[in-house]
Amino acid sequence: MTRSRIVVVGGGITGLATAWYLRHGLDPERGDRGVVPEVTVLEASDRLGGKIAGATLEGTPLDVGADAFLARRPEAERLARRLGLGDDLVAPATGQVWLWVRGRLRPLPTGTVMGVPGDLRALARSGILTPTGLVRAGLEPLLPRRRRAGDRSVGEHVTRRFGADVTDVLVEPLLGGVYAGRADRLSLEAAAPAVADADRSRSLLAGMRAQTRQARGDDRPVFLTVAGGLGRMVDALADGLEDARTGAVVTGLAVADAGGVEVLLGDGSRIAADDVVLTVPAYAAAPLVAPVVPAAARLLAGIPYASVAVVSLAYPAGVADGFPRGSGMLVPPSEGRLVKAATWSSRKWPHLADRDRFLLRASVGRIDDRRWEDLDDTELTARVVAEIGEATGTHVAPVAGRVTRWERSLPQYEVGHARRVRDVRDAVRVRAPWLHVAGAAYDGVGLAPCVAQAEALAGGLTGDRTGRPRD
Ligand SMILES: Cc1cc2nc3c(=O)[nH]c(=O)nc-3n(C[C@H](O)[C@H](O)[C@H](O)COP(=O)(O)OP(=O)(O)OC[C@H]3O[C@@H](n4cnc5c(N)ncnc54)[C@H](O)[C@@H]3O)c2cc1C
Repeated sequence: MTRSRIVVVGGGITGLATAWYLRHGLDPERGDRGVVPEVTVLEASDRLGGKIAGATLEGTPLDVGADAFLARRPEAERLARRLGLGDDLVAPATGQVWLWVRGRLRPLPTGTVMGVPGDLRALARSGILTPTGLVRAGLEPLLPRRRRAGDRSVGEHVTRRFGADVTDVLVEPLLGGVYAGRADRLSLEAAAPAVADADRSRSLLAGMRAQTRQARGDDRPVFLTVAGGLGRMVDALADGLEDARTGAVVTGLAVADAGGVEVLLGDGSRIAADDVVLTVPAYAAAPLVAPVVPAAARLLAGIPYASVAVVSLAYPAGVADGFPRGSGMLVPPSEGRLVKAATWSSRKWPHLADRDRFLLRASVGRIDDRRWEDLDDTELTARVVAEIGEATGTHVAPVAGRVTRWERSLPQYEVGHARRVRDVRDAVRVRAPWLHVAGAAYDGVGLAPCVAQAEALAGGLTGDRTGRPRD
């Protein structure tokens, strides 16, 4: 059945993309779409975009939230092209990443996926592991396989196969970068599905090797961004929507006596809807869902969130030569540093090169590392600058800096996450078929999986099942 009044709660990428596809259809070639639903987007804060946000540093527009999307899956790129931004998509100029391990920058070995090795020679060459750690990792193909049903943590699995050093210095920094999470808590199935897949081979090493070989044969860039900032996608999405409201805090959902649903707002007003799409973080969805599907609310409230901060720095252009080649560094938690990742933005992104400044973006914060929250912006910036100096040997004061704090911003896909999400969706389907949940809390934290959820929802709600969207 085609629904005609749809309220989307949350104006992040998931909410905006869902609303946009509901209005414009998944397939640009499709002519008559029948009834196009009326769509209202309600965003609590004073701006659209959620974790996509921009700022200007020394005259250059920069992303201070998400700054790129995965291009090895099609959804985010496809949306950018639909929005007319195809000519402004930019691929990284370099993919070389360093790990700051045992006091030195060492190259992230080629042939790893999420830090899990697929090439022992490259691992040995990188000098990342101690000789003992390397010998232990090399034993992996010889270890007996113990097939076990059910989910487990990434850390438990990788440590059992490759030893604790691989988990500590290779896997932790990668998981820290994407989830701000820890290997002993994150789910193998939900947070590292590529590793779970590889485990079906005769050894995990062989599975990882097969995956990286396949990836090498694919010459598409792994990531893309939009010159001028991802905020341009948000602006283009908003331009295509008739009714996207900011400052609209949704406080409740009520089933109306006359049928249909009412969305309750903080200012006391109500909006009638046939369907409601909730794209807010799980902790914000839980109280809204509680009166209608209490079981789903309890599950949603149990998804923890990590807080992080992004420190954007502009150095004098002359310092560029002091930074090692490549696009940046990752830091394992075992090093005890505040910085968990830093991108040499002017090196990585061609559109940020050749400026008068060398731009760098550092991030801090993990689910179990909140030290940065006690520091004010000046102290935090000073600590980050000092650590970058120590890692790179380039002790130069930046000419400008900016701190962006992201409280409770990254959902943790802990062991059992996929099951939890299935249970939430099943409970909602049975008790409130007019309610739909999507976003970073469910099927992937990145922009691409968020857009994938938007496509699926919009297709389902409009009966637009004529095939996948066309590129
Ligand atoms: C610092 C940082 C860097 C990142 N970098 C990348 C990256 O480079 N690439 C990548 O792919 N991913 C990245 N991510 C992850 C990705 O950006 C997010 O997971 C994704 O943008 C989340 O989108 P969303 O639509 O699910 O939710 P959000 O962006 O969180 O949007 C939800 C919206 O709901 C609103 N809301 C909450 N409660 C209510 C309410 N009661 N009523 C109305 N509105 C409400 C919020 O204000 C918010 O705007 C990053 C995340 C962070 C924090």
